Amino acid sequence: MPLGTYKEAVSARSTDSKILDVSQDGGIVSALLCYAIDEGIIEGAVVAGTPDDDWRPIPTVVTSSDEVIAAAGTKYSMSPTLSALKDAVRQNGLEKVGVVATPCQVQGLRKAKAYPFTRFVTEKVNLIIGIYCMENFPMASLDTFATSKLGFDSLTEASKMDIGKGKFWLTKDGEDKGLAIKETHG
Ligand SMILES: Cc1cc2nc3c(=O)[nH]c(=O)nc-3n(C[C@H](O)[C@H](O)[C@H](O)COP(=O)(O)OP(=O)(O)OC[C@H]3O[C@@H](n4cnc5c(N)ncnc54)[C@H](O)[C@@H]3O)c2cc1C
Repeated sequence: MPLGTYKEAVSARSTDSKILDVSQDGGIVSALLCYAIDEGIIEGAVVAGTPDDDWRPIPTVVTSSDEVIAAAGTKYSMSPTLSALKDAVRQNGLEKVGVVATPCQVQGLRKAKAYPFTRFVTEKVNLIIGIYCMENFPMASLDTFATSKLGFDSLTEASKMDIGKGKFWLTKDGEDKGLAIKETHG
């Protein structure tokens, strides 16, 4: 697998039940952010929240563990995360910023870090957490999967969204409903 250069690979999950209750998988992304804020490694981070609880990912600047946890969980649509970096630095005045981003966004961020004219923002970024990403969907597609394919009245009824075992899953009232990934491609 093309992982690139790395110092150490570990398998880990959070032990905090507040994180595990809402995280996508083992909650390690949220756990790392909470630790980094508590330890002063970063003052805040740009994550993907969904303030209207409608699964639309909105780039959000968080500065506390509660805010990190409120933004946990994967939203399977594209979050324009890097657009909030300037807000984090200019409006929130953060000197040490974390970012959670998909690999394509991390590539963009690394490239931006290499250019002098973006340095006033990117030099403040001192923690980048990259998450794997195979694919994502437009919001209209997610709505269609929920309503036309999985029998939901609305996407907002879903309490969790996931991809695994060849299917796109939505959870409602503790029940998982799956749609074969090949059916999502159209
Ligand atoms: C579009 C997408 C596709 C993915 N596909 C795969 C895959 O194919 N295989 C795989 O192993 N993992 C995939 N992931 C990663 C996986 O869903 C989890 O994010 C990862 O396992 C971390 O889990 P966690 O419990 O530690 O995260 P959590 O503690 O739940 O934290 C998740 C963090 O990701 C942020 N986030 C949520 N949605 C987005 C988004 N759209 N863009 C940027 N940040 C976001 C949240 O704000 C939060 O900070 C994908 C993630 C995304 C966003």
